[in-house]
Amino acid sequence: MSIEWQAARVVAIRTETPTAKTFRLALDAPTAHVAGQHYVVGLRAPDGYTASRSYSVASAPDGGTEFELTVERLDDGEVSTFLHDVVVPGDELEVRGPIGGWFTWDASTPAVLVGGGSGVVPLMAMLRLARAVGQSELVRLVVSVRTPADLYYADEIVGPEVTVVHTRAAPAGSSRPPGHLGAPDVAGALGELVAGSSGVTGYVCGSTGFADAASAAHGGRPAVGAHPGRAVRRDLVPGLARSSPGARVAGRSDRRVPERCGSMALGSVAERTARR
Ligand SMILES: Cc1cc2nc3c(=O)[nH]c(=O)nc-3n(C[C@H](O)[C@H](O)[C@H](O)COP(=O)(O)OP(=O)(O)OC[C@H]3O[C@@H](n4cnc5c(N)ncnc54)[C@H](O)[C@@H]3O)c2cc1C
Repeated sequence: MSIEWQAARVVAIRTETPTAKTFRLALDAPTAHVAGQHYVVGLRAPDGYTASRSYSVASAPDGGTEFELTVERLDDGEVSTFLHDVVVPGDELEVRGPIGGWFTWDASTPAVLVGGGSGVVPLMAMLRLARAVGQSELVRLVVSVRTPADLYYADEIVGPEVTVVHTRAAPAGSSRPPGHLGAPDVAGALGELVAGSSGVTGYVCGSTGFADAASAAHGGRPAVGAHPGRAVRRDLVPGLARSSPGARVAGRSDRRVPERCGSMALGSVAERTARR
């Protein structure tokens, strides 16, 4: 079944970090996404050129008409610069979704989430869901950031389920010196999950380099579900966010960012401990 394009009104824009903004979008009808899914945002230029990019839903499913996307601005990126620099509340975007079935979590089984950069976005939806339904004990999130200023959702994300790993500069008094994410960071989170649970799923999302390192930290297996990029580049014209609702964007799903999100079965906590 094809998923139609629909209009989404930008109701609010929030700055998360110097390079990331969250866009709160409203649809005409309630949306029922599952944590981990994404929407495709489509833009159209007056000459008919179109560009579309995928963005993970950051908000937890709540049965309402609104949801949030968090977008990292790439200085030379086509769509992310448009969203950051041109789009304002009241604008209308075209979106298609929710999409994705293999990188989702419904808060019913234990999960270790490991994210870097904008890869934390779908994992935040999972964390928010866990907290909203009172299942925080089922989830542990390890998020890797360069410096404290790079932490998305800083006012909200911190909690007993979350470990923040700083790669370049740690906050004063931090017991962990700055450094890349490693097996001990993930093992610590895994070890805290409900002892004796039958299985734990690992969710990894970030750049290719990050995903490989995080997968190795999970147990040496690669994350599944790579999203290889494709190269097409054209300039968009400011103002095109107000395209006609329901119109089809025939265009390209262009992306060059090597980013991967994947999930893997990690076995029971007991098995993992024995393997180490
Ligand atoms: C399922 C999924 C979920 C995602 N979720 C998120 C999310 O939640 N938040 C988020 O910020 N991103 C997310 N992304 C990434 C997002 O879709 C875009 O790839 C990202 O925003 C960059 O798009 P852009 O148009 O700004 O950059 P692009 O214009 O696509 O450029 C990206 C990079 O590629 C380079 N490039 C482009 N064209 C060429 C070329 N011809 N030759 C050489 N280099 C080139 C650019 O210089 C730039 O560095 C997700 C991707 C997927 C697949």
